[in-house]
Amino acid sequence: MIKKFLNKVFKKREQTTDAIHLADNNLPDAAKKIVAKKHKINPDLISDAALNTCEGLHKAGFEAYIVGGAVRDLLLDVKPKDFDIATNAEPEAVNKIFRRSRIIGRRFRLVHVMWGRETIEVSTFRGHHHNKGDAKTNDSGRILRDNIFGSLEDDAVRRDFTANALYYNPKTQEILDFHHGVADVKARILRMIGDPVTRYQEDPVRMLRAVRLSAKLGLTIEESTEKPISKLADLLQDVPPSRLFDEMLKLFLSGHAIETINILRAQHLHHGLLPLLDVVLEQPLGEKFVMLALKNTDDRIMQGKSSNPSFLFATLLWHEVLKAWEHHQKQSPMMPALHHAMDEIIQIQAKKLAIHHRFVATMKEIWSMQPRFEQRAGKRPFSLLTHPRYRAGYDFMLLRCESGEMPTEIGEWWTLFAHANTEQRTAMLLPDSTPKKRRKRKPKPKSTTAQENSSV
Ligand code: ATP
Ligand code: MG
Repeated sequence: MIKKFLNKVFKKREQTTDAIHLADNNLPDAAKKIVAKKHKINPDLISDAALNTCEGLHKAGFEAYIVGGAVRDLLLDVKPKDFDIATNAEPEAVNKIFRRSRIIGRRFRLVHVMWGRETIEVSTFRGHHHNKGDAKTNDSGRILRDNIFGSLEDDAVRRDFTANALYYNPKTQEILDFHHGVADVKARILRMIGDPVTRYQEDPVRMLRAVRLSAKLGLTIEESTEKPISKLADLLQDVPPSRLFDEMLKLFLSGHAIETINILRAQHLHHGLLPLLDVVLEQPLGEKFVMLALKNTDDRIMQGKSSNPSFLFATLLWHEVLKAWEHHQKQSPMMPALHHAMDEIIQIQAKKLAIHHRFVATMKEIWSMQPRFEQRAGKRPFSLLTHPRYRAGYDFMLLRCESGEMPTEIGEWWTLFAHANTEQRTAMLLPDSTPKKRRKRKPKPKSTTAQENSSV
């Protein structure tokens, strides 16, 4: 008994010392400095706004580095879509330096510095949440609030991937690299800093970030970084719906939505995202429709065109709406059944993912326009053309035709109709097959009563 007890104690102690060794091994080496000749970053790809922000901070006596995704992209010779700056200045100090700036955020307090139409995000070096401070975690280890400031080294450990923990000083043109990030970027590897399981538990969105960055930049997710993802996929249930929505937009509007969805499915992460997306993807017609829609979105973004999130979400959920619509038509007429179906699907969805109200309104408009494309007689096609969301509704209908859900002939008819003049349009109309509604005759006043009344 005593032996068993001692064994237990010692075993536990061994495990803790192991853990400490592990933690020690995970501490960053002193930063490597990588000079311009080695990293070969093209300075022309850096925005003036980012350079001005660093200069302003340097002049005020603070440290300032371009950090994160921008340095990673610069190393890959990709023009960064935005620039983040890390500094040892606290938010209030940054705010004082730049006239056009404001402090934002609760979970992380940041400063937005505005230069014309560009906004630069400036964050103060963060400390590790094991340090004393006001970091808060929930039962599953997710960090809820975390506003502890720290050193540059601390800041690097807190970042997600080695490729995202690089600090570029525009003044010296050197990169500070604490976690061999430059080597990983050059080898096109995405590697988690620290123990991947703990880091995913702290913030499950990191699993989605791994997928997104690997799809966007063609990076391979390193084995131990990838392995826990499918097992931990359920942790996404715990992420606030509004944060999940923001991440969803980034996932699907990156211009690499097809690769993204393929990796999400391979990692079983699509279950946690849109609760209905996995169901849709399991039906051949639904899958074809979603994949066509994502391909369409990718092509638009790659051509520099904008892509409307409402349209995208309308496509992702359409086949669930269709199913519910069919069901409700057993009890109600076509249009009320459709509205009932739309509300039902949006409601199920909202529990998981908070789609902004303004997007929901447009999604409903796109959906409720769909039955109107089947009506090609009388005045109706003319009035549909004047609908403020006609273009989105039409594009949506074309996808339905392309996926085999609707006869292609209808799509072709509408394409011709929209381009024709009034005379041609009138000639294109189909014969009105709907039976004309007969006006109900007003019941005649009862003559007897009238007579009786008049006789009174
Ligand atoms: P993108 O090119 O899509 O902007 P990014 O890596 O720059 O990719 P951001 O969301 O702009 O993504 O984040 C900026 C930086 O902040 C990241 O590079 C990373 O260093 C850090 N970061 C962002 N999200 C997390 C997270 N969930 N956990 C740890 N670090 C994060
Ligand atoms: Mg970024």
